[in-house]
Amino acid sequence: MTDLIICGIEYEAFLIRMEEFHGYRSPGVLMGGLMVDSALRELESTPYLNVVSETVVCLPDAIQLLTPCTFGNGYMQVLDWGKFALTAYDRQTLSGVRACLNYVRMPEYPLINNWFERTGKPREKPPFDELAEEILTDGPNLLLNRSVRLHRPLKDSKSMPTQLCIKCGESYTSYFGRACPACSGRDYYIYKGSSKKPVNLEE
Ligand SMILES: [Zn+2]
Repeated sequence: MTDLIICGIEYEAFLIRMEEFHGYRSPGVLMGGLMVDSALRELESTPYLNVVSETVVCLPDAIQLLTPCTFGNGYMQVLDWGKFALTAYDRQTLSGVRACLNYVRMPEYPLINNWFERTGKPREKPPFDELAEEILTDGPNLLLNRSVRLHRPLKDSKSMPTQLCIKCGESYTSYFGRACPACSGRDYYIYKGSSKKPVNLEE
């Protein structure tokens, strides 16, 4: 048990929200929650908050749980860099706080260190409660925050023109050229069954 408050939410309530949103209790979302909390404490309060996650795992869910920034509303951006770091910034002033972890100190905390180290091989995960206890006690010692200034806002505010694909007839962002990404070799699916004709071009 802890009386920790993360972004104004009591720890136990945060765990319940995490289970509802993320699917299970996750050390990464917990650590991410501490990072979001500490970055927002240092950032001057703003109605123009944006957050960038530098990894696709765990952090985006901590950001969406704890801030008004979501993938869908465009105020959270996700970079697939595999870095456990985030930047909270004001999209008008471009001034922000970047939170990352102190990898020099991490070996002092064996459970966190073992959990964090990715060898690429399957491994046994420590029970959530044990790891969570170490994250709650020592996680804050691992947080590194630095003030940053963004080169530019990451949210694209231009409205993108669309057009109909010459091959499938579906609407897409014309930026990709005359055929949509799927019809120009970047498809991730094939239609099952015999009809190869896209539904939009059927009579
Ligand atoms: Zn197409």
